[in-house]
Amino acid sequence: MPDSSKLHTLDSQLNLTERDQKVIWHPYTQMKNALPHIPIVRGEGVYVFDEDGKRYIDAVSSWWVNIHGHSHPYIAQRVAEQLNVLEHVIFAGFTHEPAVLLAERLLPILPGKQDKVFYTDNGSTAVEVALKMCLQYWDNKGTPKAKILAFKNAYHGDTFGAMSVSGRSIFTDAFNSLLFDVEFIDLPNENNISHLISHISNLKDTACFIFEPLILGSGGMLMYEAKYLDQLLSACKDAAILTIADEVMTGFGRTGTYFACEKLTNKPDIICLSKGLTGGTMPLGVTTCTKEIFEAFLSDDKLKTLYHGHSFTANPIACVASLASLDILLKSETLQNIKRVEAKHAVFLEEIKTHPKVKAIRQTGTIIAIEWETDNETSYLSNLRNLLYSYFLNKGIILRPLGNIIYILPPYVISDEDLDYIYAAIKSALEEV
Ligand SMILES: *Cc1c(COP(=O)(O)O)cnc(C)c1O
Repeated sequence: MPDSSKLHTLDSQLNLTERDQKVIWHPYTQMKNALPHIPIVRGEGVYVFDEDGKRYIDAVSSWWVNIHGHSHPYIAQRVAEQLNVLEHVIFAGFTHEPAVLLAERLLPILPGKQDKVFYTDNGSTAVEVALKMCLQYWDNKGTPKAKILAFKNAYHGDTFGAMSVSGRSIFTDAFNSLLFDVEFIDLPNENNISHLISHISNLKDTACFIFEPLILGSGGMLMYEAKYLDQLLSACKDAAILTIADEVMTGFGRTGTYFACEKLTNKPDIICLSKGLTGGTMPLGVTTCTKEIFEAFLSDDKLKTLYHGHSFTANPIACVASLASLDILLKSETLQNIKRVEAKHAVFLEEIKTHPKVKAIRQTGTIIAIEWETDNETSYLSNLRNLLYSYFLNKGIILRPLGNIIYILPPYVISDEDLDYIYAAIKSALEEV
């Protein structure tokens, strides 16, 4: 019998925020002095509504996952139907229509010649699988390689492998001594590209290069040009270094094309997807690879198997949410929305780029980032971040600054009026904060 004195009773005297405070440990949150967590009871389109009926524009797509708006009726309907047919089944030894169909529909629209889909649960695990595929690929080929190449300030997730290939930062600080060794290179630009290429061509023992194409998200929405990335991929190819495009954030229209790597001539060997995959409805991760990589695991030798899997691998409900999200994504109307958001951002960028408080401003597709002028070096922890966060919340806008960097990364269905409202709020913040 449970000790009833230890049971958390559902205290009707308390509101949701207070009940939360008693039992929940939130992500990325110093719980000692955390602001009260806002109780959201409903979502519709770009809006979420709190317990008191206050409306917030979800200008960051709920951590970059939501592409078609909240509680999308079509996705909801498809998910509900699937729930009555098959909620889940073990994916080793068994298969199901949603997983097969999603792979059949995804592979042809991915950049390059992606041949196989490996399912996991989220972006971090999609990255883990990609790294394992590369390391074991060389092992299976009989030419083991141990080194991995990544960008400084990269972010590839929070599990240990994904953390290892991410830039060292306050997020990794407590674990740095346990992270495996990775070589970090600068983002390419016109000045360093030839140096980077010759550096890569001299690398020995390097299994793979993992990168966020065109834009480093958590690292501060740092953007770089496709043509230089293209040259890095070409150098990797020449040096027999496999390439992993982490399109977890950039996938599904975020950068203006369905996938960021469409803008490249050289294509990656492996692609990681998650976030927008299910339209932001369910957790699901995908790692795709070329035939060449897949075939290196085919063997009579059991040790050449990719021994990786998760209990919820290829969850049918998440696969169906993805199929429904794809239906919406591939409509011409959605592409028009993406182009509309992109064009609106470009006009706003011109309007404020010379403002004295704007240290830098940059845009890739539907993402626009504004770096605030600040005299504080350790900007992520700066007070400015919290001031800005609260300022926009008070105006009914969810914007989560990365330190002194504000960015808008909205669901594509956001209206012109809502975008104008956010732009106006940023302009007034530039005067007031
Ligand atoms: C968010 C993100 C991840 C990690 O995805 P999770 O689902 O949060 O584990 C990996 N790579 C990139 C580029 C991301 O933006």
